[in-house]
Amino acid sequence: MHYELKNHMETIVDQDLRKLMAENGMCDCDRCYIDTMALALNHLPPKYVITRVGELMTEIDATVVQQQADVLGAILNAIKIVKNKPSHET
Ligand SMILES: [Zn+2]
Repeated sequence: MHYELKNHMETIVDQDLRKLMAENGMCDCDRCYIDTMALALNHLPPKYVITRVGELMTEIDATVVQQQADVLGAILNAIKIVKNKPSHET
């Protein structure tokens, strides 16, 4: 059996990020995306889950759902920072 460790927080941030970046009129290139992702994740606690390789995770942790507001706040904050100062030339 093959197992892998995943930071579920990454999945949660990833789910909303593209949409929120678009809503905030941000550059949607991969560099800005990954910068925003990293900034947001650095302000959030990691949430490691063990999954079996090839198996889709269906179980959503209740504590993670409770953190949704924090997640949104961290994402919006990261968007503001990267939007004001992108890592690339405009
Ligand atoms: Zn960009």
